[in-house]
Amino acid sequence: MIDPFGRSITYLRVSVTDRCDLRCVYCMAEDMTFLPKKDILTLEELDRLCAAFIRLGTTKIRITGGEPLVRRDVMTLFQRLGDRIGEGGLRELTVTTNGTQLTKHAAGLYAAGVRRINVSLDTLDPATFTRITRWGKIEQTLEGIFAAKAAGLAVKINAVAMQDVNEHEFDRMLAWCGEHGFDLCLIETMPMGDIDGDRTAQYLPLSMVRSRLRKHWTLEDTDYKTGGPARYFNVKETGQRVGFITPMTHNFCESCNRVRLTCTGTLYMCLGQDDDADLRRVLRAGASDDELDAAIREAIARKPKGHDFIIDRLTQAPSVARHMSVTGG
Ligand code: SAM
Ligand code: SF4
Repeated sequence: MIDPFGRSITYLRVSVTDRCDLRCVYCMAEDMTFLPKKDILTLEELDRLCAAFIRLGTTKIRITGGEPLVRRDVMTLFQRLGDRIGEGGLRELTVTTNGTQLTKHAAGLYAAGVRRINVSLDTLDPATFTRITRWGKIEQTLEGIFAAKAAGLAVKINAVAMQDVNEHEFDRMLAWCGEHGFDLCLIETMPMGDIDGDRTAQYLPLSMVRSRLRKHWTLEDTDYKTGGPARYFNVKETGQRVGFITPMTHNFCESCNRVRLTCTGTLYMCLGQDDDADLRRVLRAGASDDELDAAIREAIARKPKGHDFIIDRLTQAPSVARHMSVTGG
């Protein structure tokens, strides 16, 4: 699938639930209202949509949420999608998780064909962890991370960089990741959805973080790519990599290869724009495979050029009203 700007769309991110067992301050309000069950696609419907995308050339699928591993029976979806890995089909199946359920599911993920996972961990300090996630316990996530490692999964740690909250921890986190063989990826906060608080107070440009890290670490340029928007460096002292996702300070839209499917079957062609395609309506109207493929092609033909995220004190409203947990981060 080629979009109007000549970009080849090969990467699908699928949010399988908007629910979560945590309430990270940058992601959700504490009293989030979740979607009614009837609006949520069944696992069979999600699989059928994924199959259509694979037919149309999607080679990488990332399962996300909300917290994907809290969805009941989600492992059956991983198994079905895992069966689609191979020649001419899917090349990579992966997941972004907060890690709380990994002690239970790491081995199952590996068995389904998952080889790399992203685990969100913004801090190594137990009190800060609970402050960021509002009610999480760091031990559960750490145990999950080590269960994943033991199951043979390559782990990348994702951390959202927040002013005053975790900004002084990145040297320690880089060392910790190096010690355990994990890559680290730092993310700028994006203005998505209402949260209880001021985002300008959280926002920390990663250009600043990178120059601070350079005081203690040798960051060597690399052309390593995961198919995602991060720019990676080799950390000479640890042999691991550190990546930076900088939607605010550096717009990466020109090389965008992805679209996002929500758990209600809405396809967003851009994380930072509101235009969408209602694939649930198409599915539930009894569409044939050909009709489904046509609806997806029509949506890709509307993929916008890029996002217009702004975080400043004059712009108090989020740039996009929906939360990251809806679109799937
Ligand atoms: N629950 C899973 C997790 O936390 O990894 C998957 C979904 S979560 C929405 C995916 C990623 O989006 C996480 O790494 C999270 O830190 C990030 N995220 C959520 N809200 C964000 C925001 N407003 N700006 C930047 N990253 C955000
Ligand atoms: Fe849940 Fe992930 Fe959002 Fe945190 S970032 S509230 S773990 S969906």
